[in-house]
Amino acid sequence: MEIPVYVNTLLRQLNAHGYEAYVVGGAVRSSLLHEEIHDYDLTTNALPEEMVQVFKDFHCIPTGLEHGTITVVIDHHPVEITTYRKDSTYKDHRHPDKVEFTSALKEDCERRDFTINALCYHPDTGILDFFHGEKDLHDKVIRCIGEPERRFEEDALRILRAIRFASRLSFRIEPHTAEVLLAKKDTLNYVSIERINEEFTGMLRGKGASVCMEDYREVIEVFIPELKQLDEEAYKEMCGRLEEENTGRADVRLAVILYALHDKEAAHHILKRLKYANIVIHTITDLLRTADDPYDSDIAFRLVLSHMKTDVDTFFAFHKANDKGISMAEKRQQYASLTNDDYCWNLKDLAINGSELMKLGYKGTAIGQKLNALLDDVIHERIRNKKDELLNAAHPD
Ligand code: ATP
Ligand code: MG
Repeated sequence: MEIPVYVNTLLRQLNAHGYEAYVVGGAVRSSLLHEEIHDYDLTTNALPEEMVQVFKDFHCIPTGLEHGTITVVIDHHPVEITTYRKDSTYKDHRHPDKVEFTSALKEDCERRDFTINALCYHPDTGILDFFHGEKDLHDKVIRCIGEPERRFEEDALRILRAIRFASRLSFRIEPHTAEVLLAKKDTLNYVSIERINEEFTGMLRGKGASVCMEDYREVIEVFIPELKQLDEEAYKEMCGRLEEENTGRADVRLAVILYALHDKEAAHHILKRLKYANIVIHTITDLLRTADDPYDSDIAFRLVLSHMKTDVDTFFAFHKANDKGISMAEKRQQYASLTNDDYCWNLKDLAINGSELMKLGYKGTAIGQKLNALLDDVIHERIRNKKDELLNAAHPD
């Protein structure tokens, strides 16, 4: 594994003060999978106050000092360093009762969720792998460390984390882990909606979203019970529309899922309940609102575009997912030909504006009304988007 100079500096700094330190978790996993690494987490036997001492000449942020984590900013890179922790008892299926530190790296690995997330690395020792994580990576398996019953019982969020990693990496969940996860699905009710949203959205982004939605339907229905209305065939069909080309597009995939319900009000309700950001809600509402509008002719297409705030790529991605028969090349060509000097579908592109109408004597609300009426004429090709034609049409008789 190659590590950047700044990560090596942090490891060596801890070592120079007599402490152990390793890169752990996502970075090691991603490196072995030859994926891009976005951040490095370190684990160490230095206690929080000892870390503060070791990094006193660095820029430190005491992110979660009580959980044993500090963030050291080095060469503009924030790196989280956490003291070895061990598993303690959990309350409310989510939070450990207390944080307990340990001096044993193995114990720190043992409290982690999956074997592939418990790999450690140090340039002098190479990879340390206490729970056969490398084999599971090779076999493409998500497996709990220890007894899945206990691990999911302790922290119900792990149920969704397992599915999120399975989707993202296109791995399968080891059968016993999967069986227990399904049996314990209702403990997800103890998890905050924000955390559910985060993991569910991550799952939707993944390349294995279609398979995961199908295999773990019952888990998804814990927080989207409305999906129970879909019979097996309709549900399966919906999963089939979450195809690979929309990997990364959680919003488009969520729109595809909600469209299957054919109930815009319920869809809005679900998005609100899952606490999606307004921008996501607007995009999805927009897609669902225009989903059944025809857009085969230029006029129809312009009409759809005129009351859509979402960008056209998102619109196309959604329609392509729902109707595999559509030729995207044709649609893109049609779209390109819509954008020309003669016609438009937005007020901002109209070749006349409010102040020009005022000069003609329009006042107050009449200005907006006339602009919209002119735009409607342009959309329907009754007049062209030319200033003189528009002025002519606007001229009070
Ligand atoms: P990502 O690339 O998605 O950030 P990651 O592996 O870094 O992947 P994080 O959610 O950032 O995942 O968590 C960092 C590490 O902390 C994990 O690799 C895992 O070892 C441990 N971890 C995180 N959440 C849990 C949890 N709920 N239970 C046990 N261990 C966890
Ligand atoms: Mg991470």
